[in-house]
Amino acid sequence: MEGPSLFLAAEQLSPFVKQKIKQVEGNTKIGKERLLEKKILSIFSFGKTLIFQFDTFALRVHFLLWGSFEATIDGQNVNGDYKRKNRVPRLMLQLENGLIIFYACSLKWIEDSQIVKSCDFSIDIMSTQWDEKKCLLQLKKYPESEISDVLLDQSIFAGVGNIIRNEVLFREKILPFHKIKKLSNKKLKQIICETRSYVFQFYQWRKEFVLKKHYEVYRKSCCSQCQEKITKKKTGQRKRISFYCLNCQK
Ligand SMILES: [Zn+2]
Repeated sequence: MEGPSLFLAAEQLSPFVKQKIKQVEGNTKIGKERLLEKKILSIFSFGKTLIFQFDTFALRVHFLLWGSFEATIDGQNVNGDYKRKNRVPRLMLQLENGLIIFYACSLKWIEDSQIVKSCDFSIDIMSTQWDEKKCLLQLKKYPESEISDVLLDQSIFAGVGNIIRNEVLFREKILPFHKIKKLSNKKLKQIICETRSYVFQFYQWRKEFVLKKHYEVYRKSCCSQCQEKITKKKTGQRKRISFYCLNCQK
């Protein structure tokens, strides 16, 4: 799950704030019993993580590649993710007003009574504190890195994942393997600006369950603009799969 999906998840789960956990289940080995009778004080997203704050500690959820969640609030289903079948719950929380089930995610305790204070929201692509000038300065520190690698760097673009980076580079008509030093300041600014605007579009589509049909290049076989074949290849040091059109992207 990428930043906009986590941001939406925090919104969807907000009715659980101030609610107590009455029952815990799941195959996690982190010592989930600690959550019993604890009240959730806040729920927020930071980059690609979802954070639940309790009195003296926080629970950080990272959905990795295939993780997801489901929730029921006052009998209403909040389908946080596109449903998949036959999954084993990693963690299930029964609250006073509903239920949350997490699948295929990584869970971590953070011993902090106010974890929000140690999150640097200026690098969080969904945050009102997002700082694009800082982002440009950070990008320029990696002249030898490929743009597609830097877009996935969570210390620069917290929340950007593989869908967002491929779609943004397609929209900006840039091939993924260009090194930062080969791109002008103007172009880098455009990429930063497009990333910021695309994540809010992503958020809206995700909310309406229409994200996939708006993919222009990610997991596509033909280019949505010129109909040429889309190249699918692992690029950069991160070796993540890039999707690009050799005709439209230069
Ligand atoms: Zn094309």
